[in-house]
Amino acid sequence: MAQEPDSVLRAVTHDGSFRVIAAQTTETIRGALKSQTASPETSRIFADMLTGAVLVRESMAPDLRVQAVLQGDDKRSRIVADSHPDGMTRGLVQLATNVKELKVGAEGILQVHRTMHNGALHQGVVAVPEGGDVSGAFMRYMQESEQVVTMISVGCHMVGTEVVAAGGYVVQLLPEVERAKLAVMAERLEDFRDILPLLQRGAASPRELLFETLYGMPYEQVAERTVHFGCNCSEMRLMASLASLPKHQITELASSKDMLEIGCDFCGREYRFSPEQLRGLVDTN
Ligand SMILES: [Zn+2]
Repeated sequence: MAQEPDSVLRAVTHDGSFRVIAAQTTETIRGALKSQTASPETSRIFADMLTGAVLVRESMAPDLRVQAVLQGDDKRSRIVADSHPDGMTRGLVQLATNVKELKVGAEGILQVHRTMHNGALHQGVVAVPEGGDVSGAFMRYMQESEQVVTMISVGCHMVGTEVVAAGGYVVQLLPEVERAKLAVMAERLEDFRDILPLLQRGAASPRELLFETLYGMPYEQVAERTVHFGCNCSEMRLMASLASLPKHQITELASSKDMLEIGCDFCGREYRFSPEQLRGLVDTN
């Protein structure tokens, strides 16, 4: 089935009341899931985390990096979503030993980090609402940590282990919004609180989402951006993280006769380091 490439569209109503950002993330999630081991249910949460990170970045800081971490009830298992300004997005499923699925309920925590323009890190931490709803957690984050009132819905339609369609949207109230218009929008959004039925019907492209959420309100589509799965790992980056290990550990690794093989957890790419390269690290450390 031919599908349009993943993208993010944004629109602002002519009266300055609302801003909507809608994203399709199907291919991005398929790509990111390939190098992860996750049950269908954990895959669905993973998908929602990635789409949520994309939407937070696009609404708060399109040209900065956003990382979102969902910690499960067991406090040891987590999902990491990492979305970059050029649209490159990746993720990680980290389950504790003997844990098969990420369970997120009353003990779940959502952490969002975003890099500020001055290089400082802005971090927000919120409890996941009852029921483990990822959309609800992101909404709470936006409200409590960013002081922005939004409606967020993310979703992923899966058949078995296949991702059929994934995406989401954010409706943001702008300062000019009038009470009457707000009431109309609130009523309207009741129908779209859950994006899943739209994804299942194949009616959740960013264009359709803008049309549906802003139905009857004149609006202007202001930008189209892309989103894709990718990873920025490199031999240099891995070397740098190896160099940060304690010296005795590096010496130990360097004393082996074999090549050290390391796979990137985000994308699965394999890297090989020779004992000579590792010895070089000990010397420069
Ligand atoms: Zn990688």
